[in-house]
Amino acid sequence: MPIKTSIKRASGWLYLNSSLGRRQLRGAGVILMLHRVLADDQAAALPHRNELCVGPKAFEHLLVWLKKHFDCVPLMEILQPGSLRSQRPKVTLTFDDGWRDNAVNAFALLQKYQVPASIFLSTDFIGSRQRFWWESIGETLWSSHGEEARQRLIDCLQQVGRPLPKAFEDADLHRRSLALLVFLQDLKTLSPLDLNRLTDACPQESLPQALDWHQVRALEASGLVRFGPHGASHAILTGLDDQRLEQELSRSRQALLNGCNRPLPVYCYPNGDNDARVRQQVAAHHFPFALGTGTGIYRGHEDSLALPRFGVSQRTARNPELLSWRIYRGARP
Ligand SMILES: [Zn+2]
Repeated sequence: MPIKTSIKRASGWLYLNSSLGRRQLRGAGVILMLHRVLADDQAAALPHRNELCVGPKAFEHLLVWLKKHFDCVPLMEILQPGSLRSQRPKVTLTFDDGWRDNAVNAFALLQKYQVPASIFLSTDFIGSRQRFWWESIGETLWSSHGEEARQRLIDCLQQVGRPLPKAFEDADLHRRSLALLVFLQDLKTLSPLDLNRLTDACPQESLPQALDWHQVRALEASGLVRFGPHGASHAILTGLDDQRLEQELSRSRQALLNGCNRPLPVYCYPNGDNDARVRQQVAAHHFPFALGTGTGIYRGHEDSLALPRFGVSQRTARNPELLSWRIYRGARP
């Protein structure tokens, strides 16, 4: 482990166990942001997956660590705290997008440790075969669907002026994965139309990427998981004109009202992107709260329409003391 990481881990541990840490975090809430829980820790650790994926062992390690240091509560217990006061800081888990693996891999562990969670659905994907472009393109380029499919996609990428960089030929697995991460980030600047076309050029997976409504209802019925919207098409809301913004918000809200018993009054911005116009529209659609991706802890007086969260990667889940280091940085007055 690099020396810098060791120092951060040690400082994080010290912070949580110091009177300063206990004082700063008393009554505060930490909202964690996750996406996927894969079936395999090694697969999740590769750079192009690390940010959005955790493996089952790392996820379990994180849950055990959280239970030791925090009260693990439902999101609304942080946003609208009840009268029950605890000396311990509160933490809540949120998952973005609505990945099928949330039901298949994450839920059993949430249940085992009785840790509540909120899942934010990009509602067009739920119960459909529609695919998230970064997953389909990323995994096809990673050869997860065979060499032929990879070559076909590379040809399509050439056509939209995005040839594969030389770094993809690196023999080292880690460096190749890092090159893929950078390449995928660059693709974000392509038009939604081009991204859809590229996604269509990728082979279909055997199972849908997203949850279906049956799974959503089963998770909700457990009493441990609640759901909210994360856009309908996962379009970046700040880039939409007024009419399309209205459509995204109405469609996603309606889908949650139809598909769930008790949807959360909390919106979750795709990519975290929001501005004054988006926040105003979200509030007008009966959402008093919305989650962004800015970092920080919640004390009850932040902008309720741009709530901060801490992202959890495979690396952080394996070393949760790194999380306490970041909470420490975020908690500084
Ligand atoms: Zn998302």
